[in-house]
Amino acid sequence: METTRKLIRKQSLEKLYKLLSETRKIYAPVIAADKQVEYKYNPAFSDITFDHIRSTLSAKNVVFPKVENLFTFTNSKTESTINDIDLNKIPEVILWGAHPCDNAAFDILRSIFCWDITDEFFSKRLEKLVVIGLSCHQSDDYCFCTSVGLAPESSKGSDILLSRLQNGDYHAQILTEKGNSILNMAGELFEPVSAEKELITEVKGKFSHEQVTEKLKTAFENPFWVENSLRCIGCGACAYVCPTCACFDIQDETKGKNGKRYRSWDSCGFGLFTLHTSGHNPREVQSQRWRQRIMHKFSYMPERNESLGCVGCGRCSSGCPVDMNIAEQLEALQKI
Ligand code: SF4
Ligand code: SF4
Repeated sequence: METTRKLIRKQSLEKLYKLLSETRKIYAPVIAADKQVEYKYNPAFSDITFDHIRSTLSAKNVVFPKVENLFTFTNSKTESTINDIDLNKIPEVILWGAHPCDNAAFDILRSIFCWDITDEFFSKRLEKLVVIGLSCHQSDDYCFCTSVGLAPESSKGSDILLSRLQNGDYHAQILTEKGNSILNMAGELFEPVSAEKELITEVKGKFSHEQVTEKLKTAFENPFWVENSLRCIGCGACAYVCPTCACFDIQDETKGKNGKRYRSWDSCGFGLFTLHTSGHNPREVQSQRWRQRIMHKFSYMPERNESLGCVGCGRCSSGCPVDMNIAEQLEALQKI
């Protein structure tokens, strides 16, 4: 679809939010009591932040919840009855004000969840999602979107992309049919585009992802992995905050005769992640787990999914308790 460009004034943005929230759930970033930025469903418009650099957790929860029931069951002496989850009850959700890196991650998640067999849960949630993105007008040293082929104003993954103008109004790019349906519904709030300058931050390139991918072809046995992961404590935080990490565990939980099977986020950084029932663990030490994380995102995924597994949001670096900085490591890896 050809992109339509419009102007939306600051006061009209609030009207748009209120209009949309009458009929749909909205998932938007707010500043929590501990000053961290987190996504919440249906916050008051006045609580939404338009100035954050990154939320602590990404927005992936909206299509890949931290914990998701797959089915429920009832056991009797002779049989089990399984009750499927009615996916048609998954509501329409608008993701509001997520930055371009987070929005670009949805296609990457799709390449994982729909790689061989389509994951119906993920697909239905993505189908019901409309993304109103927000270009970045601030960045910090952890950001490296430009090193992985993105930019602070990338429109990938957004249905509408807003960019703040110098006077506080917003430039709106309507990019998809989903975005167009919002334009049609609230046309009076959109005006002809102005010539005001957009406030977009600069993010300096840190490494070449093509060179990293090439280097990884011969780096499997390199001492780099041990040297650079000695301080990793295997807490898994890097995977939990990441917008593209998609590993999950499946568990059954029962109470009396009733139970449920659910999946929950998992991390390849955990020692138990690959532990076999026999006691054998193919990734015995943390350096092997760190290598897996980098290999998966920058070598296996480009080969298998035709996309990188990283959008350069910098969350894993800013959230790591021992300051493992992925961009610095990739920069160093490029030079080995
Ligand atoms: S967040 Fe840091 S310490 Fe924790 S597993 Fe990831 S790299 Fe290791
Ligand atoms: S690997 Fe780190 S920088 Fe890359 S997308 Fe995940 S959290 Fe962001």
